[in-house]
Amino acid sequence: MFLFNTLTRKIEKFQPLQNSVVTFYTCGPTVYDYTHLGHMRTYVNNDLLRRTLTYLGFQVKHVMNITDVGHLTGDDDTGEDKIEKGARKAGKTVWEIAEFYTNFFLKTITELNILLPQVFCRATQHIQEMIDLIKILEKKGFTYETKEAVYFDTCNFAGYGKLGGQNLKEKLPGAREEVYVDKEKKHPTDFALWFKRVGRFANHTLHWDSPWGDGFPGWHIECSAMSMKYLGQTIDIHAGGVDHIPVHHENEIAQSEAATGQPFVRFWFHNHFLMVNNQKMSKSLGNIYTIEDIKKRTLEPLAIRYQFLQSHYRSVMNFTWESAKAAQEGFRRLKNLVSNLHEKNNETSKSQLSVKAKKYEQEFKRIIANDLQIPQGISLAWAMLRDKNLPPHERLSLILDFDQVFGLGLERLTLENIPQSVINLAEERKNARQVKDYLKADRIREKIETLGYLIEDLSDNRYRIRKKFRTGQSAF
Ligand SMILES: [Zn+2]
Repeated sequence: MFLFNTLTRKIEKFQPLQNSVVTFYTCGPTVYDYTHLGHMRTYVNNDLLRRTLTYLGFQVKHVMNITDVGHLTGDDDTGEDKIEKGARKAGKTVWEIAEFYTNFFLKTITELNILLPQVFCRATQHIQEMIDLIKILEKKGFTYETKEAVYFDTCNFAGYGKLGGQNLKEKLPGAREEVYVDKEKKHPTDFALWFKRVGRFANHTLHWDSPWGDGFPGWHIECSAMSMKYLGQTIDIHAGGVDHIPVHHENEIAQSEAATGQPFVRFWFHNHFLMVNNQKMSKSLGNIYTIEDIKKRTLEPLAIRYQFLQSHYRSVMNFTWESAKAAQEGFRRLKNLVSNLHEKNNETSKSQLSVKAKKYEQEFKRIIANDLQIPQGISLAWAMLRDKNLPPHERLSLILDFDQVFGLGLERLTLENIPQSVINLAEERKNARQVKDYLKADRIREKIETLGYLIEDLSDNRYRIRKKFRTGQSAF
């Protein structure tokens, strides 16, 4: 596997630290507003990376945080807490706001067929871990305290700015006059590890006791604390949007490496922006779209996923409703093709792939292992599907195999046109197999066969059902 690493600005050969297990951390949502198209693209691309790693034989340990406290409206500690502000505007409690938008986020990623991480961790449930980490930084002399907060002293950390290649001195202090700045803060790049419940935060709803008084954590510290807790001091891959490079990820590196003396992340994976009609998304332009807007226009969420698959994660993508409609049309054609192949397929046992089919498989592996060239993978899939020299069952088998990476849910199509009664029997059989009642499972299989269908067992107790005979062909 070869991946572009933001840290070195090069495509490098990727190998996990320990054998075949990849430790993978992705920055999750701040749950104060709706998950929109820009977020959706980032999470789909992170999902493509995870699926590719799995496809290539790695085992991925995936952790994602949910930010439910401490993320201010300005990433540079200016403004107010996004969730407190969201709650006030909506006339709801901070807990209601966090729960509502967490659910919206989960619903969105589920509809996009994004695999859920093994660990979802909320900032508010890891306050002690953050306090412990700040205590270590304090002991090592990387912090200073003001009346309002505890800061990380970026001038004290030699590697500050290495991710974005920025020079500390180039960052100008007091960028905007209207925003509040702590007068005792020494350098503009210094960032809060802990905010005290005083001054502008005197009425902050969420607060905890700490060695520095009552207050709440800054935004960045949560990712370091949770990443270390679940994945260890040095992780293989950390993912996020490019907008996180200059502040959030730079700060994560500084505080983590200052605390442990170890490299924090080996590979930084950053997704590029999504534009809408060649403009940045913004409330004032009214071009911030969610999964609900997509469905309102009778587009399938998976068609949008298909659309995301057609631009490489390191290029800026321009979204328009016309391009979404075209993607929907392409996705519909792909689904039809797969359904037709399934109809034609009368192979009962999975025979060895032919030399030609194997070539397609190898080419697919080569393409996706080359810094995730998914758009090329899609082109290859279409070429393969149109290749008349390849028998239908091989085409079907290959596209379902590729779809382990694409995640377009093509396997579900093989259940279309199959009577519900047969699907119900198959589910019953699956449950019987799960509790190792093979006698019952065999009886159900026979019943399914008398109804004219065959059931094939796949890995992870999944199955595939197909018609016993070619369409139009007589059974006897
Ligand atoms: Zn983060």
